[in-house]
This record gives sequence, structure tokens and C-alpha cells, in this order.
Amino acid sequence: MAVTPRTNTPDRKTTNNEGRAITTVTVKRACNGCGQYLGDATEAEIWRAVDGLPAEDVRTECEHCRPLVELEAAGCRTWQLTPRSYSRVAHEIDQLKPWVFTKGYFQTVEEELQVVGLRIGTGETRVVAYFGDWIIRHPDGGFTVHKAPAIEETTRG
Ligand SMILES: [Zn+2]
Repeated sequence: MAVTPRTNTPDRKTTNNEGRAITTVTVKRACNGCGQYLGDATEAEIWRAVDGLPAEDVRTECEHCRPLVELEAAGCRTWQLTPRSYSRVAHEIDQLKPWVFTKGYFQTVEEELQVVGLRIGTGETRVVAYFGDWIIRHPDGGFTVHKAPAIEETTRG
């Protein structure tokens, strides 16, 4: 499915009548899958936010996230692992049949042992998802991980 890329209006720098520098920005829409900016937000999206409605799924517009949408359409189940979703995701995977082993994945961060993700399965078939990654359960019961994109610091506000 071809997706028309959004307009991506750059910031405009002007000088007003009093000689002050003014920067005019256009609100950007972030991908609800990975948080990368996709281009200008539409009027309708801004009004949804103003009205307190949840943002619509725009992951098909995102090069990084489109494969996830295709996997979901093919019958896969997906979860985005974040520190906030961690306990819900681990619980939901624990409820699956056949039963799947999950365990927090620890690493030393700043000299402290911390949970940095979730380990799913055991032995050769185990996968590790880090926070920000998507976990995919395929119809055959196997798991894979869709890595979070390496976000360039300059693209985030
Ligand atoms: Zn995305």
C-alpha cells in the first residue's frame, strides 16, 4: 500500500516590525509506534488532541513501523515494551497457551543492575526485547523482536 508522505513544513524565521526574531513552527505528528516525526499534523489530528481523543494509528506512514502493521494483518500479536507497559506485557505473555517463560532482562547501567527489557522463552529460541522494542508473537507461537529505531537526538524536541 503506497502512502503519500506528509508535508513537512520547516521552521520559519522572520523579523517582526520591532526587529525581534520570530520562529514560526508547524505542529508535527509523531508515529504512535516509535515516536519519530512523520511530518505536519493535520487539522483533524490537532482537534482530536484538543478534544482529548486518542491519536489514530498512523504506523503505516512510518517506514520503521509499517512491517509491524503488516505482521498484525497476517495474524501476529504485537506488544510495545516500555517501562510503563512492562508488567502488563509480561502478564499477557504469561497467560498465553502454550505457556511461555518470561523473565526480566537485567544489565548494569551506571554501576547499578537494572531491568532493561524482557526475556521470552528459553535456550536457543529465546529472544530479548529491550524497552522501546516491539515483541511479535507469530501464528506458529514463535517470538521475534522488532527493534526500536535509533532515534537521532536532533530529530527529537
Ligand atoms: Zn514508527
